[in-house]
Amino acid sequence: MTARLALVGHPVAHSRSPAMMNAAFRALGLDAIYERRDTPPGALDATLAALWDDGYLGVNITVPWKAAVRVAVQSVDEIAERCGAVNTLTRAPDGFHGTNTDVPGFARAVLEAGTSLAAHRVVVIGAGGAARAVVLAAQTAGAESVTVLARDVRKARGLGRASAFGSFDARAAVAASTLLVQATPCGMSGGPPGESIVAAVDLARCAPATLAIDLVYSPRMTPWMLSARSAGLRVLDGVGIGMLVHQGAEAFESWFGCAAPIDVMRAAVLRAD
Ligand code: NAP
Repeated sequence: MTARLALVGHPVAHSRSPAMMNAAFRALGLDAIYERRDTPPGALDATLAALWDDGYLGVNITVPWKAAVRVAVQSVDEIAERCGAVNTLTRAPDGFHGTNTDVPGFARAVLEAGTSLAAHRVVVIGAGGAARAVVLAAQTAGAESVTVLARDVRKARGLGRASAFGSFDARAAVAASTLLVQATPCGMSGGPPGESIVAAVDLARCAPATLAIDLVYSPRMTPWMLSARSAGLRVLDGVGIGMLVHQGAEAFESWFGCAAPIDVMRAAVLRAD
């Protein structure tokens, strides 16, 4: 019987996950199919119930449902609980179980880019689901410090040190940072303009060796990356795609119990550019 998997979010039309996952299934000769399930506000419970009744083996969860899905599933593991966000569900006899593969996905992508989170004073820009995954990955790796910058500082509280964009503390944290991670949708194709996040975070006082990562991977070069480059920072421009591939590979492994074909998945994501 064909194994069925789905991406649940809103919107999902732009997502590269179907291309990435279906390429992996083809490469390994798996009888499986991965589909998009656009799930607008108010429809999460009904979508998950339908996927369960239809025998789906696994589900990826994306914006805006990563936090809300916690209460809609049978259980979530420690990593998802600590993160406060779930991006992967796996079918078990008693229901869907949730985890968060963005956390190890980000850590692997950073290692692949040639650095270790443990070595850094990390500043995370944004306080949503992706930012939470970055914070947990950095804390787990033993980063020297983790500061979260947000436009609404209340949303960043409890996630390491928290500061509002433009505050004295935010400027000091950015100036002292060794790794900056842009984790808002600003600059993403179809998202808010990238210039808004460029204006919110003053990179002029950063040391030249500071590393800069944007989790936005479409387009490949965002306004924030360009601004970091002109401020003399070193931009690690493959980490957004690397995170997408590695979080997908972790999800694949939790569904099928075998190693994911990472190179095939990366090639499929890059082809979709
Ligand atoms: P999310 O949960 O909706 O959070 C978005 C965050 O960005 C919130 O803190 C939000 O602030 C902030 N924000 C939104 N618009 C802003 C603006 N104009 N100015 C300043 N802050 C703004 O989304 P998410 O899941 O964290 O995803 C964020 C981005 O990361 C997306 O582009 C997503 O595609 C990317 N991502 C990439 C990967 C990957 O594998 N590379 C994985 C996950 C996510 P408020 O709360 O104040 O609205």
